[in-house]
Amino acid sequence: MAETRGESVGPYGSSAFEGPAFRKKREVPDGLWMRCANCEAMLYRKVVTENLEVCPECDYHFRVGARNRVKQVCDPDSFEERFADVAPADPLKFRWLGKTYADRLREEQEKTGNIEAVLTGVAYVKGRRVALGVMDGDFLMGSMGSVLGEKITLLIEEAAASRLPLVIVCMSGGARMHEGALSLMQMAKTSAALGRLDDAGGLYIAVLADPTTGGTSASFAMLADVIIAEPGALIGFAGQRVIANTIKSELPEGFQRAEFLLEHGFVDMIVPRSELRSEIARLIDYCGG
Ligand SMILES: [Zn+2]
Repeated sequence: MAETRGESVGPYGSSAFEGPAFRKKREVPDGLWMRCANCEAMLYRKVVTENLEVCPECDYHFRVGARNRVKQVCDPDSFEERFADVAPADPLKFRWLGKTYADRLREEQEKTGNIEAVLTGVAYVKGRRVALGVMDGDFLMGSMGSVLGEKITLLIEEAAASRLPLVIVCMSGGARMHEGALSLMQMAKTSAALGRLDDAGGLYIAVLADPTTGGTSASFAMLADVIIAEPGALIGFAGQRVIANTIKSELPEGFQRAEFLLEHGFVDMIVPRSELRSEIARLIDYCGG
């Protein structure tokens, strides 16, 4: 059936869902090539991959799945996954759009090869041992369910017990609606665990990738000793349109982007992906980790 999907702007207008998460995919000739979502250049996919999923033309940072990110950040084959057996459940027997949450979880697990929207473990970064968590934006938008919160908490406790620097790469659409209030409780749980890590003198470095929003940004993403953002990353709590409607005023250009947040003191530094490993290692040495 022919639809006018491409023409329709929906009830909120065409700008309501703008941003990388909802950008329409452009037609490309085949899987070898891709189009940059920012500069629209046609790029050879292999070259982009070798460039750590960054556009060689305009430096646009594409999103990176969790497994790929682990490869990019860690010394080769040094990542040992922990808490891999903590699997999500469906306590509310939630159904949405004719699909159960349990079915949705199975689909996401098959699609990503991950059991939840975060990978947790220990690894080496330029020879420094770290407790590492990497969120997966491909898994239900990197949403924070109770098991994601649990795995992050276990990782924080591991960092404290083993006296390891904690590094979490955040990428999240926020709380997971399929788990209702249980999802929201993860904000308190992870924050409390980070408080204990801080009391124990632990170092926590957060890397905010595009996007880091909702309950994730309102809890562990923003509680780090050092907050690194990737260039151009969308970082915020509520969506721009919701805020604009609530406060009934225009928002400044680039609001909720990494560069704006750096200027206003919400993040400590913006680090290009090519320098991320070196920067993490430098910070660990600097902080005496
Ligand atoms: Zn580009």
